[in-house]
Amino acid sequence: MLRTALLLAARSDRCRAFVERAPLTRGVVTRFVAGATLEEALPVVRRLTTDRLVTLDHLGEDVTDADRAADTVDAYVRLLAALDLHGLTERAEVSVKLSALGQALPVDGQRIALDNARRVCAAADAVGTTVTLDMEDHTTTDSTLEILRELRADFPGTGAVLQAYLRRTEADCRDLAVPGSRVRLCKGAYDEPASVAYRDRGEVDRSYVRCLRVLMDGPGYPMVASHDPRMIRIAAHLAGAAGRDADSYEYQMLYGVRADAQAGLAARGHRVRVYVPYGGQWYGYFMRRLAERPANVAFLARALAGG
Ligand code: FAD
Repeated sequence: MLRTALLLAARSDRCRAFVERAPLTRGVVTRFVAGATLEEALPVVRRLTTDRLVTLDHLGEDVTDADRAADTVDAYVRLLAALDLHGLTERAEVSVKLSALGQALPVDGQRIALDNARRVCAAADAVGTTVTLDMEDHTTTDSTLEILRELRADFPGTGAVLQAYLRRTEADCRDLAVPGSRVRLCKGAYDEPASVAYRDRGEVDRSYVRCLRVLMDGPGYPMVASHDPRMIRIAAHLAGAAGRDADSYEYQMLYGVRADAQAGLAARGHRVRVYVPYGGQWYGYFMRRLAERPANVAFLARALAGG
């Protein structure tokens, strides 16, 4: 119930205005968001990359006009130039939401998003790093995978995210378990209907393990995006059973979540990548983080109450 309400609020302009205006929200937001600007985020990236890898997300989603989508491309081009300038491209890549590149525009959205994503991939390629396409709600899955297919023809290192809560995902894992593919497997963060998604946590976890097995047994590069200690233990077991070296897959977690576990895995010789969001448009991302864990809501409520 609470999760559904928060995910609905994530798409409400009235809630956005209320939460964004509350004077103390910012202190809470900084737990999950590395800064309002690239300049604020870079020291975080430098600190994290001493023992971990990162993927940076310039926050924003659901753009409603082509100019805003072009602004997103410019922001990624600036980000990639900064990563290059600071010598970070070996340890940092970028994550992109296609809805921020125009995917949902009513006229030609798919083509505009593909053209924009191509520009981001070309900028990443030019400085020697890669792009991973985030996955949004289930109405965008086919379009996102189609754009991935087109991008991989020119930029084979482009990664995809698959969400274990979707009933289709085990089949998508099989399709993407090909040489050179990079698949970030997560549980899924949107409010999806039972017709397309598992709604029970146990069912989502079982799907996650089935998908993980397909990816670990395949020839691609699995990216295990979960904070769940059970999923992490199972991933290690499946990687061992598949005869994988520690550098043939990686663990991924979000900035501000289980930082101790991130450091612990890295200290034991695992590749660990932290998803680092930054930028002014933090609202939707922040609300999904609240929805994932009720304790986060209490944290925000205390801040909104001024305590
Ligand atoms: P859970 O069972 O939800 O959590 C396990 C434990 O992790 C919890 O008990 C808690 O201790 C901790 N935890 C989890 N979330 C939080 C939190 N927000 N705050 C504090 N503690 C927490 N989803 C998408 O739909 N599309 C994407 O493109 C996408 N990209 C992602 C990229 C990365 C690198 C990661 C790590 C996640 C991404 N997600 C994405 C989110 C994902 O789908 C889940 O919603 C989220 O990771 C929580 O699931 P979990 O596997 O950590 O397991």
